[in-house]
Amino acid sequence: MRPIGVFGGTFDPIHVGHIMPVLDICELTGIEQVRYVPNARPSHRGTPRTAPEHRWNMTVLALADYPQLVADDREINRPGKSFMVPTLRSMRSEFGLRPLSLILGMDAFLQITQWYWWAEILKLANIIVINRPGAKVPAVLPVWWSRALKSHTRVLYERMSGNIVHLDVPLIDVSATRLRISMSRGEEHPDALPAEVAKYISEHQLYSASGVAG
Ligand code: ATP
Repeated sequence: MRPIGVFGGTFDPIHVGHIMPVLDICELTGIEQVRYVPNARPSHRGTPRTAPEHRWNMTVLALADYPQLVADDREINRPGKSFMVPTLRSMRSEFGLRPLSLILGMDAFLQITQWYWWAEILKLANIIVINRPGAKVPAVLPVWWSRALKSHTRVLYERMSGNIVHLDVPLIDVSATRLRISMSRGEEHPDALPAEVAKYISEHQLYSASGVAG
């Protein structure tokens, strides 16, 4: 069965580093649909600068040109903290027997053991890890990681959960934190932001030094 990709984040703002690597993954694996899940209230990091509805609107605008990338509002609509496990459970009931592939940048994956009920994640989904500038694979992998690691993408189709695949996709050296800092200084980022997102940010003054982000 064709897997469904799941890509969560604060997307504050969504940028090319969130889009190009995922398109590469679709090409490499044949995954036909990736659900982008902006989190409303992250559980494992501070409150995002920008209100969930703005981050949702930017996600919708950024994905409009890519029919295989679908904005998914289940965490935006769910009250309370945005934990990944309930998200995967609700996808599991929605998508039945289609395997789920949770996509994570290496920086996020390296923190996964700090997530709530993290071991449950590998019972609900497979994980695709992509490289991110500055995030290095440890020289010695923990046992749970090396046991789950597979070198073939076909496990993403054959197994519902429990496997980790690293995919080498071209690195995109963009981070939302750096974008927020430089936009607050008035700089523009035509190469790092989808045009409609850049327009939305400027219309709503989201990251300017004086802007009201919430
Ligand atoms: P921030 O700087 O605010 O932490 P971010 O740019 O890391 O933001 P997030 O929304 O936190 O973006 O990340 C969502 C997911 O996207 C994570 O899995 C993260 O590793 C991945 N990601 C973000 N930027 C890149 C990038 N340039 N290349 C590959 N993966 C990325």
